[in-house]
Amino acid sequence: MRKLAVIGLGTMGRPMATHLARTGFDVTGVDTDAVARRRFAGALRPSEVDFSALEAIVTILPEGEHVQDAYERWILPSAKSGTALIECSTIDIDTAKRLHAAASGRGLSQIDAPVSGGPEAAGAGWLSMMVGGHPDDVRKAQHVLETLAKKISHFGAPGSGQAAKACHNMICGVTAMAVMEGFALAEALGLDPSQFHALCSGSAAQSWTLENRCPVPGVVSGAPASNGYAPGFAARLMAKDLRLAHLASDSSGQATPFGEMAAKAFTSFADDTGGDLDFSSYYEHLRIRRYTTKDS
Ligand code: NAD
Repeated sequence: MRKLAVIGLGTMGRPMATHLARTGFDVTGVDTDAVARRRFAGALRPSEVDFSALEAIVTILPEGEHVQDAYERWILPSAKSGTALIECSTIDIDTAKRLHAAASGRGLSQIDAPVSGGPEAAGAGWLSMMVGGHPDDVRKAQHVLETLAKKISHFGAPGSGQAAKACHNMICGVTAMAVMEGFALAEALGLDPSQFHALCSGSAAQSWTLENRCPVPGVVSGAPASNGYAPGFAARLMAKDLRLAHLASDSSGQATPFGEMAAKAFTSFADDTGGDLDFSSYYEHLRIRRYTTKDS
């Protein structure tokens, strides 16, 4: 399987498409946004793509509504029977199941394969993938999955990849809140943030967020905080992921109080700011709250 399209050339899609092209795939980049298209050689608008000529189509779009739109307008009407559809966006479980039913009804092979790891891992083929789909459909996509990810966890039926992703991201969101509050409190208590970071990275407080998304500018050189909070993982997407986890919590009946608090905090932050900066910019919001409280 060599000829494929990557739809969505944003923070994640562009490095994924670049890595697939570098490893020998014939990749067509697709995006509705002209700026995103300019950043990937030969990228096309969806209306310009011959979807019937592709063996695989990877979607990596912001939300369920965007994926549904791409499926209904472009992919389902034109992809040829047997094409492998690999849906890598983080979306709700019900939409993932509906997309699978619509695709398989047209003879297409479709799986949900949301990812974890950020743009650095996307560009290196080191993503973690949480896969839901029938075994034959997963086998069909295997070559692409193995190129993009170093860890592939097949959880079961269609939608189960998104179920795993919702739980995984709730852990990330709650951990992110704890890391940001920990650093804000450390600063308020007069601790040196670099020394505090060094302590935490080798101790029980260690986490991926702490190592890669330390919220204090200048502490970790490659972190978004040290680059004007350029994403990384946009706060609006973190808010969306936590809302998806909350939806899953509601539908399953399992209480997730910390997840719910994190969902509310990131959603109101993203609503107030537009949410385009990395989620770790919430740290500045926490600090502002401290100073506001102190001054009033
Ligand atoms: P992004 O907003 O940076 O990029 C999305 C791209 O999709 C944009 O270029 C946009 O123009 C394009 N787009 C939107 N609607 C489209 C359509 N109908 N057809 C074609 N293109 C369209 O988002 P991102 O950070 O790359 O995230 C994409 C998905 O991956 C999200 O679901 C996110 O939750 C998930 N994710 C992101 C990260 C991360 O670190 N950024 C990590 C894991 C998972």
